[in-house]
Amino acid sequence: MKTAVISGGAGFLGSHLSDRLIATHKILCIDNFFTGKRENIAHLVSHPNYTLIEHDIINPIHFSDQKIDLIFNLACPASPIHYQHNAIRTIKTNVLGTINLLGMAKRHGARILQASTSEVYGDPLEHPQTESYRGNVNPIGIRSCYDEGKRCAETLMFDYHRQHNVAVRVMRIFNTYGPRMSEEDGRVVSNFVIQALRGNDITIYGSGEQTRSFCYVTDLLDGMIKLMETDGFTGPVNIGNPNEFTIRELADAVIEQTGSSSRLIFKDLPKDDPQRRKPDISLASEKLDWQPKIELRAGLAETISFFEQQISS
Ligand code: NAD
Ligand code: UDP
Repeated sequence: MKTAVISGGAGFLGSHLSDRLIATHKILCIDNFFTGKRENIAHLVSHPNYTLIEHDIINPIHFSDQKIDLIFNLACPASPIHYQHNAIRTIKTNVLGTINLLGMAKRHGARILQASTSEVYGDPLEHPQTESYRGNVNPIGIRSCYDEGKRCAETLMFDYHRQHNVAVRVMRIFNTYGPRMSEEDGRVVSNFVIQALRGNDITIYGSGEQTRSFCYVTDLLDGMIKLMETDGFTGPVNIGNPNEFTIRELADAVIEQTGSSSRLIFKDLPKDDPQRRKPDISLASEKLDWQPKIELRAGLAETISFFEQQISS
């Protein structure tokens, strides 16, 4: 049985990934619980294949008594409010944390996957975004700790690959949503669903004409696992759903599907908020035979029913 390290394993994506792998892999979850939740992994901690290690990846960690085969580097706050909360820590997580895990990959001869992001394209001038587009990122703005941190993590992945022959996989994740997003996460899907279910105002930042393309969590994980398992392909590769919606359209869909009487209110657009985002997924389709299957309506229905349970419990 292979041993997989999942950094950020108690978070939204990390806990779902653990569910996928637990029957066939030994899992070492590394998490500092900055945004992760114990309830996400409560059903896993007593599983014989599962070990929880409370640790911050900014600090080195060694597993000298067991062989590591796979490393999924998911540790990093993903929501703008959380990654901006302590910007220097976010950069350290992306740079020092990634170096620590790449060192582990090198020592163990492990394959390592980096959860990169569509944010490497910044506020894109090319639409849709292909992997060859080099982006339009503000290096000194409020999102830079995340955007530039993730860009540097990609650089590190490829430098370790060239210099030390580490087997790397780089996945550029586009906005992903689903059950187990945190109520306090602050990202748009969870915010709108919770606001609608509570009958609170739905907060649209800016005009709501900016776009995002929303991928349901199960589709995203299919892509992540395929990328990790595919030989001879490092990426970077976009994984996301190319169906593009304005934020206003998302709000309307959430109101309709929840049957809410919430009204829309408009707030200031945060600085450097990208205007448009949509992945070109031709490369994922060609190299991984991957495309998303779950449309927004179906994914929202699952997400709404998750938050209904959270709110009523
Ligand atoms: P999340 O906030 O739910 O999970 C991140 C996890 O990392 C949390 O459990 C947190 O406690 C942990 N963590 C943060 N800093 C750490 C550190 N220094 N040491 C150890 N653990 C640490 O977010 P998510 O949506 O599950 O995102 C997972 C990864 O995917 C992140 O790297 C994120 O940048 C990337 N990503 C996610 C999306 C998305 O839409 N969900 C989009 C692009 C990229
Ligand atoms: N947004 C919004 N209301 C909210 C939260 C977010 O209008 O309550 C907008 C945000 O300004 C951005 C988009 O929704 O244009 C997606 O934001 P999110 O934080 O989910 O992710 P991003 O793609 O910006 O990292």
